[in-house]
Amino acid sequence: MKKLDYPLCDFKDVLNTCAKGMEQVNVRNTFLTAVPDLVYLGLQYEQLVKKGELYKFPRIENIKRKTVVVPPLTKSKLVNLYANNLRNKEKPARSLYEYLLASANEKCPFCGDIGRPKNLDHFLPLAHYPQFSVMPVNLIPACRDCNMGEKGDDFAGQAEDQIIHPYLDKNIFYTQQWVHARYVNDGDGVVEYYVQPPAEWQEVDKARVNKHFRDFDLARRYGIEAGKHLSEIIDQRNSFYKVMGRKIPLEELTVDLVEVLFKPLIEGGAFANHWKKVMYVALSMSQEFLLP
Ligand SMILES: [Zn+2]
Repeated sequence: MKKLDYPLCDFKDVLNTCAKGMEQVNVRNTFLTAVPDLVYLGLQYEQLVKKGELYKFPRIENIKRKTVVVPPLTKSKLVNLYANNLRNKEKPARSLYEYLLASANEKCPFCGDIGRPKNLDHFLPLAHYPQFSVMPVNLIPACRDCNMGEKGDDFAGQAEDQIIHPYLDKNIFYTQQWVHARYVNDGDGVVEYYVQPPAEWQEVDKARVNKHFRDFDLARRYGIEAGKHLSEIIDQRNSFYKVMGRKIPLEELTVDLVEVLFKPLIEGGAFANHWKKVMYVALSMSQEFLLP
């Protein structure tokens, strides 16, 4: 959906900063012995996301608190690393937590700028993948409505079911338009959103954007945002016609309206699937909207 820049702190930086927050020397030294293995697992994770195959990362079933996940670290040690260290306001790693949260610039990458990120969400859930509890690219700044943690701990078991990874997925998901909208004149007028990926995409990628759109309930959520904004646009359209209508023929007016009202945002910096950009494209192509 919306791409996030690769974090300036990598997994190793975060692990070493977490280590600095461990007061007991023996605890810290034990932890540091696992850092190279954790970093190696992180590289595997990144390579799989780039290939669209993160679902292949082995999931540990029936993992207990005392299960050793990355020797000598148990599941609970790794889980606590996030809660008691990275997120802990008393620890040096907290500054990295704050940095990651702020890096989304107040725009949730899952819904793409409806909600504001409130906390970091584990892309591969903590319960089944504790080895990535503090890995930056597994920590997604997410809004309340998109937070996966509250939706359970399930994760894709096959390629088609993978939602879009905000950091490392294929560029086509961020740069090509796959969210579309249509204007429906039912009296007040509504904007309806739907998924239509480019025809040349692979079937698996088409399935993935559909899954992402469904999982985050984007048709409904974008529809609400568009509804709030539409009356404003209709007022602007009507006053434009009122002022200009007496001077120019109608067919020229619609061209001017698109130019004045929609072009700046359509051609501006918003990412390809931003709800507002998609809405403006739909309205600018709707004769029903342009010629009420
Ligand atoms: Zn969101």
